[in-house]
Amino acid sequence: MIYLDNAATTPVRREVLEAMWPYLTQDFGNASSHHSVGDRARLALKDARERVAAVLRCKTGEVIFTSGGTEADNLALKGIALANPRGRHIVTTPIEHEAVLAACDYLQRHHGFEITHVPVDAYGSIRMEAYAAALRADTTVCTVMLANNEVGTVQPVAELAKLAHGRGIPFHTDAVQAGGALSLEATALGVDALSLSGHKLGAPKGVGMLFLKSRVPIEPLLHGGGQERGRRSGTENVAGAVGFARALELAEAERAAAVPHLMAMRDELIRGVLAEVPGAILSGHPKERLPGNASFCFPGTSGESILLQLEERGIVCSSGSACAAGSDEPSHVLVAMGVPPEVAQTAVRFTLNSSITAEQVAETVRAVRDAARAVVSLRFVIP
Ligand code: PLP
Repeated sequence: MIYLDNAATTPVRREVLEAMWPYLTQDFGNASSHHSVGDRARLALKDARERVAAVLRCKTGEVIFTSGGTEADNLALKGIALANPRGRHIVTTPIEHEAVLAACDYLQRHHGFEITHVPVDAYGSIRMEAYAAALRADTTVCTVMLANNEVGTVQPVAELAKLAHGRGIPFHTDAVQAGGALSLEATALGVDALSLSGHKLGAPKGVGMLFLKSRVPIEPLLHGGGQERGRRSGTENVAGAVGFARALELAEAERAAAVPHLMAMRDELIRGVLAEVPGAILSGHPKERLPGNASFCFPGTSGESILLQLEERGIVCSSGSACAAGSDEPSHVLVAMGVPPEVAQTAVRFTLNSSITAEQVAETVRAVRDAARAVVSLRFVIP
């Protein structure tokens, strides 16, 4: 099997599991307990926080461990919006992950916020003039993802954050897909909040984090024992935090070597698929895209049928985001990019990891060619 769905999730790395193991077994303590078992857990949590802060180049107090990317996005948006008295207006894009879009929708329905979805162009890049025009005196928070999970387009987040700051507006970015691929230095990006998820990086599902710049007021979502400096109550997931920190460190350490290889493999896959499959269209930006993302539409076929055909040939990938998979709705990302719904329904996404080889890329290209042919010929047999 060739697994090309790393944007959906990744396997837990051995080094990560080994780092976590002591905190699941002999050092299982509650980090809030005042005895030696608790002390060991507390120290491990502190160490994990320091390691994460070193990668993000932020202060340790700016790292809030969460249960994953969805919680980090919800905490950032609801937390900043509800704590910030500037007004009731949020600026975002229509191509954000559901965690952001649905959190905005909640703020609109229950708290009277107005949401501006700044349009994107055909490559999925935000329209800068429309973004600048959307910023208002009553805008409470801006949120634009660093890299899109479906089509891989990377947004100019540093520039967007700067424009928001010029108007005194805090800026959040969902960087869940960017770990190991782009720099996560929060200070260089100039953002006030940044979400990450462990399971996209070789840590287990159920752990993630929110970077939140000091002095940005936040209303917690979870009330209780006051853990994470009162910003996220609940007994700390010590082993999860340790695993997350190890995975993030490894991803960052390997990034410089991994990215050129991933880009070469991605470009070879794109070239091969466009050459071998008549009518295939690359989705997303040709250059400003994640190094491991190759997404296509295959007009005249069906994305789900191609997936099935590919799986029979040993290739595992997805028809967009894992959340949208299985639903008949065309991808909201592709629709926002102006792709007609019937073409959006033919989307297939390949997301590579750094262990991919040239042979595997060649095998994938052959499988895509054969899968597309099989789907087209089946369409003639079964109209
Ligand atoms: N944001 C983006 C861009 C994602 O791709 C995902 C997961 O697919 C999430 C947020 C949600 O993260 P989690 O699965 O950790 O809740």
